[in-house]
Amino acid sequence: MACKSSGELNELLQSARRYTEKGKVADYIPALGKANRNELSIAIHYQNEECVSAGDIETKFTLQSVSKIISLAVALLDHGEEYVFSKVGMEPTGDPFNSIAKLESSVPSKPLNPMINAGALAVTNMIKGSHQSDKLVRLLQFVHDLTSNPYITYSVEVAESEFQTSNLNRSLCYFMKQHGIISGDVEELMQVYTKQCAIEMNCLDLARIGAVFAFNGMDPASKRQIIPPHIARICKTFMVTCGMYNASGEFAIKIGIPAKSGVSGAILCTVPGKYGIGIYGPALDSKGNSIAGIKLLELLSKRYNLSMF
Ligand code: GLU
Repeated sequence: MACKSSGELNELLQSARRYTEKGKVADYIPALGKANRNELSIAIHYQNEECVSAGDIETKFTLQSVSKIISLAVALLDHGEEYVFSKVGMEPTGDPFNSIAKLESSVPSKPLNPMINAGALAVTNMIKGSHQSDKLVRLLQFVHDLTSNPYITYSVEVAESEFQTSNLNRSLCYFMKQHGIISGDVEELMQVYTKQCAIEMNCLDLARIGAVFAFNGMDPASKRQIIPPHIARICKTFMVTCGMYNASGEFAIKIGIPAKSGVSGAILCTVPGKYGIGIYGPALDSKGNSIAGIKLLELLSKRYNLSMF
C-alpha cells in the first residue's frame, strides 16, 4: 500500500517524540524489552485508500492487547452476543489489565470485560476451531481480510517469550476453568493467546484496520463488509469504555475517539466516518499506554477537532 509522508503530520510527531524519554518499554515479556524506546510512527488511512504517514513506519511491532478487539469480533461472529456476554461482562474495571481480584469478587464469577486479560483469554477460548492451530488460522485470516495484507503473521520470538513467562495469565485461566468460563486445555489456550498477541504488523496495516472500524465494518477501499455493523459498534464501544487501560476516561475527555492500546506501544484508533489511525511508540506511561503516542493523538485531536463527544 502506498503511503505519502506528510510534513504536517511529521511536525506534530516531532513535538510528541520528545516524550519518549519519559516512558519505559515493557519488559515483563522479555522480547518486548528489545524495542527502541525513541521510536514513534503514525499512519492515517482515509476512505479512498489514501494514506499519510510520519516517523519510523517500516518498524513492525506486535499487537499485544490491540489483538483483543480482533478476537472479540471473531468470537461475536462465531457465537453471537448472547453467548459471548454470558461468559464475559461489559463493564470497565479500575484494576490493572492482568488483575485477578475482580474475578474472585464478581458474582457470577466472570471477567468484567473482554479488554482485560481474563476477558480476552475467555474470548480466545471461544473462537471456533477444534485445535489451537485452527483458531490461530482463523484469527490470521481475519487480520488478512481487515488489512488486505496476506503476509501478516505472528512473531515466533515474542510469542515464545510470552508463553514461557505468562504464569499470571495461566492462573487466570485455571480460575476461569474452575468456574466454567473456559473449557479445554489451558496450555493450548495459552499457545493461541500468546500467538494472537504476537501478531506483527506496521502502523500502515494498523491504520487500515482502524479505517474498517471507522466505516462500520466495511473496508473503505473494496467496499466489502468485513464485520457486520452491529459487531463493529460493540468493538468501538469497548474501545471507548476500556480500550486505554485505566486511562480510558481521561483519554475520552482529552482525545475523544475509540482506541485500543497494547503494551508493545501500539495504538489502534478509529475516527468514525472519517479514517483509521495506527500508532507505534514503545515507550509507555505508568498506565501502560504509549506515552508519545498519546501526546501525538492529543495534538491531532486538538488540531483537527476529532473528539466525537
Ligand atoms: N500479551 C499481553 C499480556 O497478556 C498483552 C497485554 C497488553 O497489551 O495489555 O500480558
